[in-house]
Amino acid sequence: MNPFAYDRPDSVESALQVIAANAAAGTGTANQHEIRFVAGGTNLLDLMKEGVTIAPHLVDINRLPLASIAQTPDGGLLLGALARNADTAYHPLVEQHYPLLSAAILAGASPQLRNMASNGGNLLQRTRCWYFYDVATPCNKREPGSGCSANGGITRQHAILGTSEHCIATHPSDMCVALAALEAVVHVQSVRGKREIPFAGFHRLPGDRPDIDTTLAPDELITGIALPEAARFVRHSAYLKLRERLSYAFALVSVAAALDIGADGRIAAARIALGGVAHKPWRLPEAEQLLEGAEPGDEAFGRVADALLHGALGRGANDFKIPLARNAIVRALHMASQGTVTNGGMNQTNHGEAQ
Ligand SMILES: Cc1cc2nc3c(=O)[nH]c(=O)nc-3n(C[C@H](O)[C@H](O)[C@H](O)COP(=O)(O)OP(=O)(O)OC[C@H]3O[C@@H](n4cnc5c(N)ncnc54)[C@H](O)[C@@H]3O)c2cc1C
Ligand code: SF4
Repeated sequence: MNPFAYDRPDSVESALQVIAANAAAGTGTANQHEIRFVAGGTNLLDLMKEGVTIAPHLVDINRLPLASIAQTPDGGLLLGALARNADTAYHPLVEQHYPLLSAAILAGASPQLRNMASNGGNLLQRTRCWYFYDVATPCNKREPGSGCSANGGITRQHAILGTSEHCIATHPSDMCVALAALEAVVHVQSVRGKREIPFAGFHRLPGDRPDIDTTLAPDELITGIALPEAARFVRHSAYLKLRERLSYAFALVSVAAALDIGADGRIAAARIALGGVAHKPWRLPEAEQLLEGAEPGDEAFGRVADALLHGALGRGANDFKIPLARNAIVRALHMASQGTVTNGGMNQTNHGEAQ
């Protein structure tokens, strides 16, 4: 691990001042060799130990007052960037109003990791492409212009949608898949002021700059994640994660599905996001619209799955992801249509409101 300077400011303002004085503000990329914020450290410290990230200066943000979870005036929730993943998943307001998010967070990592991992850090965790972690191999994400070892290499975990010749990595987060479906908004701040980034515009596709994961500038701090009011999806949501083993593994494919089913039994609105298939959580609102007015069932669910996977491309070892994703979308929509299962094991359709 490289030697690094260390600051532990007490206020957002002083953290922003330290980072602004040292970061290449406005470049749109967090260079491998730049000053970094550190929260739970569960991803950043691994990257530093492996020599993938060589941060000469860390700004520890754990003393900043950003760990609360509170209702917003418009009926939504604001999740603090420093609220831990476990505290978020088990928070009564999250369990009651956003069971999809709670389920997605609990499908990730392990209890110990979720106790350390912060919400802001979860959004910025880096890909699990094994070549990215292996500094002996070319990787455009780690070393721009060096090439992509996965192209023509081992691709079992890699993307089938939105890839480029420069990178076929996936985004590894479970939490982010639910946040995409729930249309979250990321609140960020720098010395230049505050701004809000809709979730669909937060993560990037690789294009010819796979080293840039997000639209966050290097000197910007995530302060919170806003969840709009989503009462109509509470009773019919499901997070389905398919992976190599039942716990402690990243998704091969995951699906966050939420349905608003009317009194007539037909679908009034749908939200679907996919994980494990692209460089960012994959969502196509135009595909979701195919479910509006439809009766829940194989035919409608298959139609939307085909639309979501339009243009999917395997690279040999990950060809299996295309039928796997189709089956997972159909299954997750069936699960959602049958009623949300809460952390307490309650089916909201059969038992009323979440406990
Ligand atoms: C063995 C293992 C298994 C895992 N399995 C899963 C899984 O199945 N599913 C899943 O979703 N995740 C999984 N994870 C990833 C885990 O969820 C992330 O490591 C964690 O969420 C990162 O949060 P953190 O607070 O520790 O971030 P850190 O490691 O502290 O930071 C990560 C990045 O975010 C930046 N950062 C942190 N906070 C802020 C902020 N507020 N503003 C701006 N920048 C910030 C840091 O500078 C750094 O670049 C796993 C991790 C490990 C080690
Ligand atoms: S897929 Fe992306 S992260 Fe993996 S080796 Fe290629 S450029 Fe690097």
